Amino acid sequence: MVKRALLSVSDKAGIVEFARGLAALGVELLSTGGTARILRDSGIEVKDVSEVTGFPEMMDGRVKTLHPNIHGAILCNRHDPDHMDQAYNAGIELIDLVAVNLYPFEITVTKEGVLLEEAIENIDIGGPTILRSAAKNFHFVTVLCDPADYGHVLKEIRSTGVVSENTRKQLAVKAFRHTAYYDATIDTYLSKELASEEVLHLDFTEGVELRYGENWHQKAKFFKEPGVKGPSLANARQLHGKDLSYNNYVDADNALLTIKDLHAEKPAVVIVKHNNPCGLAIGDTLLEALSAAWDGDPISAYGSIVCSNKVFDLQSAEFLEGKFIEIILAPGFDHDALEYLKKKSSNLRLVELPQLNDVFDFDHTYKFVVGGLLKQSRDVGLYEKWDCVTEKEFPESMRPLSEFCISACKSTKSNSITIAYEYKKSCYMILAMGAGQPNRVDSIRKLAGTKARENLKVMHERDSPKEDFNEYCTKILSKCVMASDAFFPFDDSIVHAAEHGIMYVVSPGGSIRDNEVINTANNLGVSLVFTGMRHFLH
Ligand code: 5GP
Repeated sequence: MVKRALLSVSDKAGIVEFARGLAALGVELLSTGGTARILRDSGIEVKDVSEVTGFPEMMDGRVKTLHPNIHGAILCNRHDPDHMDQAYNAGIELIDLVAVNLYPFEITVTKEGVLLEEAIENIDIGGPTILRSAAKNFHFVTVLCDPADYGHVLKEIRSTGVVSENTRKQLAVKAFRHTAYYDATIDTYLSKELASEEVLHLDFTEGVELRYGENWHQKAKFFKEPGVKGPSLANARQLHGKDLSYNNYVDADNALLTIKDLHAEKPAVVIVKHNNPCGLAIGDTLLEALSAAWDGDPISAYGSIVCSNKVFDLQSAEFLEGKFIEIILAPGFDHDALEYLKKKSSNLRLVELPQLNDVFDFDHTYKFVVGGLLKQSRDVGLYEKWDCVTEKEFPESMRPLSEFCISACKSTKSNSITIAYEYKKSCYMILAMGAGQPNRVDSIRKLAGTKARENLKVMHERDSPKEDFNEYCTKILSKCVMASDAFFPFDDSIVHAAEHGIMYVVSPGGSIRDNEVINTANNLGVSLVFTGMRHFLH
């Protein structure tokens, strides 16, 4: 039975309707100054807390509800005769429900130029105390810290006369979580302001159970960052197919980061497999970008994730006929494309992220290690300088292709090498990549270089079967750019690049053997640019 309720809210949203609903059910209402005023203005009868405590609200509202007549009324264990006697003897009338939300500390400290004094005045003291008292005594008391809960609690009281034990439990957990988050925000702010320390509080509370983890015997969950905005999988809507798996989240996130890092205005497509982009292209149409991305590694594209920066259209959907992929992630799907893809497979996951092209609003990345968490600022930008260090010039006209190539290299696990080709004016594709090797030379010799020829073989048979294959390869590879995520420690990488017919190379530079590398490039007629910016991705 809810007989008495205490309402004390900073965010007044929905409080009048809630109070009116409680009053109509015969609940007596107590309230603090501002809340009471609003309720009275709406014609709702309410008793002032100061009348219950016998003290006026004082010290600019710092002390309002901090009194045994309030906290005894909330904390009393109704099943303990001693508690009940003590309450009776002290004239304490029990409170069965509280609705409290706190001074807006977080909003205050995120305002530009906020002063410490203003922040401190926004540290709510009585509010969290009420929430914690009520949450602790959830066996008897209902605690609301979020206006979103007013409606269903009122409905429950109306239909059953009480608030169920289960609802009280859920609301108690929510209240403790809320005060914990509130205190964490204060800690984060004051640690910086008063102690010049950085502290990190993780508050990922909303979790989705996944079918399994990286492997079938592992359990997994996806936790959403509260209030996350913009291009994040947390904001994606799945339109079709099996639920996203753990690996799907990892790979789709890589796809999202890769496509966004291109900053392409034209249609762009990335194909991700095992957390690496194995295909990436920009085209005049989405279909063109998709098929060029597919050419980047048709073998690895099997079972991959396809992500586009444009609404997915029917032509692109038709291109995927007979090809097995796990997910399509796009800002949206044309109706006919969606219908077509739904028919293609009941398992194919179609994921819409309308905010995909919005600006990323995060500037740090985090990685768990056993017993610790690494935090770093995001790897933003492509190069710091553009110095051609060889006798052979690097044409300025090849800069956009090079930027595309570096961008792809940035999203590929180290040691990474990417080879990019301008397959049509201002349309670029990754011809091949080498990822995740513990030495750089293998990324070229065994992977990117070899794969480029394999991919060219497929393209040659399809596009110009009459042309001599070696001439075809030389024609294309001599126009390609090869990017390396870090400096070349020895000149062997340049030797292998040249062996594969690659004439234009970009690398951060900075090795103690740079001179050796430059000399070899000069001897082999390779043009080399140093960018000054490393892009390790571990
Ligand atoms: P009102 O607008 O009703 O005057 O004040 C509502 C706010 O006061 C709520 O955010 C509530 O958390 C807060 N509050 C309630 N009691 C106390 C108290 O004793 N001290 C402080 N500092 N805040 C309180």
